Amino acid sequence: MNKLILGWIVIGALVGAIFGERKGRAGFGALSGMILGPLAWIIVALGPDKRALCPACNKPIAGGIMKCPHCGADPRKAINAGRGGRA
Ligand SMILES: [Zn+2]
Repeated sequence: MNKLILGWIVIGALVGAIFGERKGRAGFGALSGMILGPLAWIIVALGPDKRALCPACNKPIAGGIMKCPHCGADPRKAINAGRGGRA
């Protein structure tokens, strides 16, 4: 019985963290997954995306990275370079 509860907590937290990671909320996913299990996975999967968007291609990127994995632009440089380019 205890193993079943332990398995629920471990798997819930692990899967929750994986779901949360995609949204930039691994900590929230792990914590809620620990308590709610599969229900939390759905909440995290449908919840808001906390990641920043690449200013060049507008796709979600991890915070503090030097190069966008989608378009290869430097997110920090693109913020400055994007000025004045509006139509
Ligand atoms: Zn990009």
